[in-house]
This record gives sequence, structure tokens and C-alpha cells, in this order.
Amino acid sequence: MISKKTVDEILLVSKIEEVVGDFVSLKKRGQNWVGPCPFHDDKNPSMYVSPRLGIFKCFVCEAGGNAVHFLMEHEKIPYPEALRYLAKKYNIAIEEEVGKTPEQIQAADLRESMFILNGYVEKYFTGQLFDTGEGRAVGLSYFKERGYSEATIQKFRLGYNPENWDTFTQEALKNAYSKELLLKLGLTKESENGKLYDFYRGRVIFPIHNTMGKVVGFGGRTLKKDAKIAKYFNSPESEIYHKSDVLYGFYFAKKSIRTLDNVYLVEGYTDVISLSQAGVENVVASSGTALTERQVKLISSQTANITVLYDGDAAGIKASVRGIDMLLSAGMNVKVVLLPEGEDPDSFARSRSNKELLDYLTNEATDFLLFKVKVMSKEAGNDPVKRAEMVTEMIRSVAEVANPIAQAFYIKECAEIFDLPEETLNIQLRKEMWKKKRQGDKVDMPNVINPKTVTPKPEILKINPLEVIEEKIIILILKYGLYEINVEMKDENGEAVFVKKRIDQHVFDEFHEEEIAFSNAMLQIIYEEYAEIATSSNDQDEIRKHFALHESKEISTFIADHLLKKDPAYSDEWEHRFDITTNTLMNNAQKLNSEVEQNINWFKYRILDNHRKFLLFELSQNPPEEITKLIAQKLTQLLPRRKEIADILGSVTTG
Ligand code: ATP
Ligand code: MN
Repeated sequence: MISKKTVDEILLVSKIEEVVGDFVSLKKRGQNWVGPCPFHDDKNPSMYVSPRLGIFKCFVCEAGGNAVHFLMEHEKIPYPEALRYLAKKYNIAIEEEVGKTPEQIQAADLRESMFILNGYVEKYFTGQLFDTGEGRAVGLSYFKERGYSEATIQKFRLGYNPENWDTFTQEALKNAYSKELLLKLGLTKESENGKLYDFYRGRVIFPIHNTMGKVVGFGGRTLKKDAKIAKYFNSPESEIYHKSDVLYGFYFAKKSIRTLDNVYLVEGYTDVISLSQAGVENVVASSGTALTERQVKLISSQTANITVLYDGDAAGIKASVRGIDMLLSAGMNVKVVLLPEGEDPDSFARSRSNKELLDYLTNEATDFLLFKVKVMSKEAGNDPVKRAEMVTEMIRSVAEVANPIAQAFYIKECAEIFDLPEETLNIQLRKEMWKKKRQGDKVDMPNVINPKTVTPKPEILKINPLEVIEEKIIILILKYGLYEINVEMKDENGEAVFVKKRIDQHVFDEFHEEEIAFSNAMLQIIYEEYAEIATSSNDQDEIRKHFALHESKEISTFIADHLLKKDPAYSDEWEHRFDITTNTLMNNAQKLNSEVEQNINWFKYRILDNHRKFLLFELSQNPPEEITKLIAQKLTQLLPRRKEIADILGSVTTG
């Protein structure tokens, strides 16, 4: 067991922003860092990392904790392993304590022993490649023939296992590694008469690393031309190797992916290695299978931009389309590069100069959906039935696109390519989105709370000056958020009671209740950051200063414009009456109270009203019966609520 002293030291020395930053692309925002949360399907950066507090926190899915928690959750590793990772990262010597139960030792140590054995094996294989006659003559010369430089071979820690029956297995056993573990990791096999032999005899070795750079498995390529034996042997699934979770090359590519804000996706080991050697280091491989959710998450934690490289044959395109819809719904921008007929990324990179390769990748990158439309349109020719099918399939993909503006763009392009009216496609799209919503997907229906970003019908957009109210609310909490007002609540008997509550808390609670978000992105950012700071601050000035000195020009300008001006409603006089020691308003409380309530209610009213208009519009499009029912249901919930708020507002303005 790791001693308490070591644990404390690890926690003290670890820098949360560095630990999280190794897996998630973080941007500095004020004192904090923000990035996309890897623990839910995050389209906006909702995860905050606070170096001052040493914690991370997602405001959407509520994931949070310190550096150790982050690693345990993100890497799905047990506590001691997370600590060991940090100890290694920060060069802290681990002091072990005795006193663990045998079961504890077993469970925690199995994975650890597997990593240790795999680490030893990787070294053994690279040693064989470079330091033995056979390794050099057979393995190394094969890699050289493929055009791999020594630097590349070393970077990817490629190796060689000799042709003999059990050279490796005997050596491992001699070094006290257990037979059970060797079998479990698929490094050694047992013949029917109980003899142990090497699995990768006479093969060159590609070690597979996890996101932390530890070896989880191996791929071994035969050097024989014999078509009867499998070209590649691969490690079996184990406690440390889940094939579908791993992206080959990710560990080596991570940095470059983040720097270049793009990743290339290819099929296999040789593609990754050849591209990397040619200078395209931001490359990973899905290892043949369609992408999995976990792989998509890994990628989207580093960048929102992905370029998929396709071999120049039609079969490849069709096969990998499945994984791509998943990339789209993760909010990624997907591009495609189609390689010339008969080439794969490996052969292409080797047969061109680095410049030719880079130029090709840049010039040939096409937006995935547009690429797909064109391929499909060409395939369907003039067959109307086929064309209709293709349109439906295209719309299905467009429905996966997270960004409504991008959706509108694709609809426009599709309309042009298939020569159909945009409106027809839009109706189809809405149907798809309803379908997704009914299946329980979290879908932002066009224009429910985001009137600015979508364009169903112009008159809906014109009506509500939502932003004016949004602005008022933000200014209100920035100015007076820490002040207390009297809020009307119901007690157990349903009687109205007045409770003192901070204004900011009141706004948060109300917004939370109605699941309200701001339509203006900048205001939403201020709101979220405010929530983060205000929980630990009792100083209104400190909070304002944070935004006034904000690195976003837009935010600091907004603050300067609105908070430096004198407030005509309350002015100095009002501020003087504020008693700093008690955080309560002595006078004028009434005025502030109603100002807050009124703004919140106006905001709610506008949103509900927008929602109502949207639903009525949907209804006017003659949707299928079940959807009509759904809309009617929503309207029955919404209308009384809207009236309730209208009444409150009415009594305020008239009374
Ligand atoms: P060649 O030199 O004949 O082109 P290769 O080693 O490049 O052989 P390919 O058949 O071109 O292999 O396959 C490309 C990639 O696909 C390989 O780098 C490898 O990562 C992956 N691959 C192919 N077959 C398998 C397999 N059976 N198991 C795992 N990966 C495989
Ligand atoms: Mn190949």
C-alpha cells in the first residue's frame, strides 16, 4: 500500500491543470481553465479546472474532484494506479507500507503485474531487434525495407521475436515472470502435450500503448509471404487490453493533435507509422473496426477536427461511414481525404515526398457530408427511388450534426445537389430530429431555446428581444449578486413565507428549475464563470474584476460598457445604504426585489412564448399523428405556465 505521506505529497505536487490537460484540450479562462468535459457528450466546454483549488468540475454532468479522481474516472483505473501515475509524472518516490490483505494485493497487482510484464516484453523485443544478429538481419532489415528510419522504429518501440520455438518464453520464465501471466497476455501458448511456446515466432512486433504510454498489447506481423498464415497476430483481450477502447498511436500523437487542432484517422499500424515519419504526427488508427464511442471520446477530448483518410476504393468508404455519424453527433467537424486508387495511407506516404503528401492532405480534404452527398448522388444516377433513399439517408446524417447553423448549410447543399426545394428537406430533417428525440436522445430541437441560431420561420425570430433581458439579468447578478433579497416560498402547508436569499443564488435556482440557458453565448459564458467564482467568493468587486480583466475582449468590453456606468435606478445613494457587514439591504430592498423577480419572469415568459410559437409552427407543418399528439401534450403543459407568468407580469406592470 502506498503510504499516507506519499499520497499527501502526490496530491500536493500534482498540478490539476497539467493532469487534466494531458487528456483534454484546456484553454485558460481567467484564473481557471476550461475544456470539453470527457465524462459526458459535451459540445460546449463545460468543464472547469481550478488550479487554485486543485479540482476539476463539470457544470453539466456534475463530474468533479481532484487529480486522482480525474485519472480514476477518465482512465478507468483503480486508486493506487492513479497515484502511481502521478508519482511517476512528478518524480515522487513511492513509500510502500505493509499490511494489505492478500485479496487486495491480488486485485490491485494483477493489472500492475500485467503492465510490468508487458513493459519487460517490449524491452525484450526491441533488444532482439537491435542487438541480435537474427533481429538485425531479419527484423530490422524488414523495417528498413519498408522505409522506416531508426528514429521512427525507436519512437514506436518496434521489435522482433526470434523464429525459435520458445526463446522468449524461457527467458521470461528465467526472469521470474509467471507462466499464468504469460498465457493470460497471449505472449506464450501451451501445446496439447503441455509444452510452452512463443506466440509471435519470427514476427516483427508493434507494441500497442494506452493513453498513458503503457503497453497493453502487441501486434506481430509475419515476414513470410505464405498466404495461409495470418499476416497479423494480435494480443487477446485482457484486464488491461480492450481492443475497442484503444486508438493505435494516440499516446504519441496527443501533443501534436492538440497543437495542430486536427487529427488524421487511418486504419492500421503501418499507416500511422508511415504518416508520422513523413511529418504528419497527429495520426491515429482505429485498428480496422468501426469507431467506438470510447474512441470518439478520446479523439474529441483533444480536438474537434478530424480528417479521415480513405483508401482509394469504394468498399472502404461504405464500411467506415458508420463510425462517422458518431463523430458528427459528438459535434466534430469531419473531413475526408480520398487517396488515389489502389493506395493506402502507408503506401501513399512512402511513395511521395513530404511536401507532396502535405499538399495532398490539405488540398484534397473535403467536408465529409458533402463528400458523402456527392458520392451518393453519383451512385444513384437518375433512378428516382434510389435518389429518394439517398436523400433520406443524407438527412439522417444531417440530423446527427450538432450545430444548427451547419445543419442549415448542409440542407442548402443537399437541396442543390439533389435538386429539391430546401423546405422539403427541412421538413424531413425536423421529422428525423423528432424521431431522435423520441428515442430519448438529447437533441436540441431547432429553436426551442436558441432562437438566434436556427431559421425555421422568420417571424419567430423577429419577435423577442430576449437578449435585452438576458443582459439585464447578467448585469444584475454582476452588480448585486451577493446582496440578499426576500424571496417568496411556500412552506409545508403551502403558506407563503419570505426567505432571505442571495440574488445570484435565486437566479441560479430559477434558471435551473426551468432548464434555461442563455441564447447569447458570451452571456452564457459569463453566467457559468460567475457561478464558479461566486460559490467561493464574498466579494462583489473581486468578481467584477475577474470579468473586467477577462482575456476575452468581448467580455471585458461588455463589463466596461455596463458596469462602469452609473446605475440610474439605484445610483450611489442606493449603494451607500448597503450594509457591507451584514450583506443585507437596509432600504430600497423592495425595489431590488421586484427588479430581480420581474426580470426573471420576463425572461421565462419570453422563452415559454418562443417555445409556444415554435410548437405552433411545427403543428402547421402537418406532422404525423403521434407527433401532433406530442405537440398538443407539450402545449397543454406550457400554456397555463405561460399564463401564470403573464399574470404576475401583468399585475406588476399595471399594479
Ligand atoms: P503490406 O506490406 O502487404 O501492405 P501491411 O503490414 O501494410 O502489409 P496491410 O494488409 O496493408 O498490412 O494492412 C494495413 C494495416 O491494417 C496494417 O498496418 C495493420 O495495422 C492492419 N491490419 C491488417 N490486417 C490485420 C489483422 N489481421 N489484425 C490487425 N491489424 C491488421
Ligand atoms: Mn500495407
